[in-house]
Amino acid sequence: MGSTSACTFPAAEAGASKARRATVDITDFCPNRCIICSRTDAKPLMRMLGFPAFEKIIRSHPSLESAAMEGGEPWCNPDIVKMINLCFARGIMADISTSATVWREDVVQALAANGGKWRLQVHIPSADAAGYEKFTGNNAWDAVLANVQHLAERLGRESLWLRTTICAENLGGLKGIVELSEKLGLKLGIAPYIPVGGGNATVLAPGKIDSVLVYAAAYGADFFGAKGKFTGCPVLSASYGITLQQGGCPGLNGTSIHYDAGGNARTCEYMRGN
Ligand code: SF4
Repeated sequence: MGSTSACTFPAAEAGASKARRATVDITDFCPNRCIICSRTDAKPLMRMLGFPAFEKIIRSHPSLESAAMEGGEPWCNPDIVKMINLCFARGIMADISTSATVWREDVVQALAANGGKWRLQVHIPSADAAGYEKFTGNNAWDAVLANVQHLAERLGRESLWLRTTICAENLGGLKGIVELSEKLGLKLGIAPYIPVGGGNATVLAPGKIDSVLVYAAAYGADFFGAKGKFTGCPVLSASYGITLQQGGCPGLNGTSIHYDAGGNARTCEYMRGN
């Protein structure tokens, strides 16, 4: 895959940063092998970003309002609690993702002690065991469901989200996902699979995006981070034939930055395939 120099996120060293949000892949290790995943063709897949590198990133961007810890499976990083606590100490919202395939008592305790300063997004692509295993390659459905329920009991539901990415392979299960989020009492975020940057899933057929939008609108689901609206990504716009409803790409205008598990500023995932 090539990359476009036009879509290279600003490096941390590139002078005064105006970034308000940092997305940091704190590991590229994950027990799952999802069909949508951009990391399945990335090498190596075992990197763990250390706390010093994370701290350097955070200190390089003094205007940060939120820091997303992603991956890979972020909960596999042994330093994640130190990273979360650094965000708390600096008044930055810790925006944490997980597949809920692993349980980290120290992470749960750190979040429980800091109500309101974090968001936890649990990424689940299916609402049943067979669909889950087909999508993720991991026979972990029972453990994932139990972990999500325990998270809700321990942390409450205010800052807990269910997230799902919809491609052709799991579009038929979207109703089940919505019902699962309602049963668990969790807010739901929906995004369509992005047809560049990696993964082996099938992009939604033209017109099928409407099915996803209907759910997003009907359930008030957060859609690309903006309720019922698309963010300003030109690749998404072109891929799905939709009109952008918001201003420019946050990566291009420098308000959002992204680092890989080696601590390197990276090009936008969406643009890599162009
Ligand atoms: S859980 Fe996330 S990081 Fe892990 S394989 Fe699936 S999409 Fe990739």
